[in-house]
Amino acid sequence: MSEKECLFCKIISGDIPSNKVYEDDSLFAFYDIDPKAPEHILIVPKKHISRIDELEEEDIELVGKIIFAAKKIAQEKNVKESSYRLVFNNGVLAGQAVFHIHLHLLAGRRMHWPPG
Ligand code: 5GP
Ligand code: ZN
Repeated sequence: MSEKECLFCKIISGDIPSNKVYEDDSLFAFYDIDPKAPEHILIVPKKHISRIDELEEEDIELVGKIIFAAKKIAQEKNVKESSYRLVFNNGVLAGQAVFHIHLHLLAGRRMHWPPG
């Protein structure tokens, strides 16, 4: 899918409204519209990358920033006992529905392992 048609690119640009949690030069974070936990936030790069498989070496720092932002957001939200789960789904069989990479930050309930 091209950037023009991408749902998360439209959320980043503000063409589609979202409940924003965090923004900086390279990242945007917002509440998931269909939460799978009491706290469910998506952290996305502003750069359109369709899936983890598409990452290039030049994106390594960006991915580090995504994870660091997740840590900061979890701390700001005072996530209970600092327990949360971070998930990247890559590909349809893994559950990826939106093809612009996003880190799920899930918190506020006991998580199960292995995930379904
Ligand atoms: P995936 O299944 O691709 O890993 O995750 C996509 C996530 O995006 C899902 O958890 C889904 O609920 C969320 N989502 C889909 N459409 C929208 C939307 O329009 N707004 C927001 N805030 N989240 C969305
Ligand atoms: Zn996109």
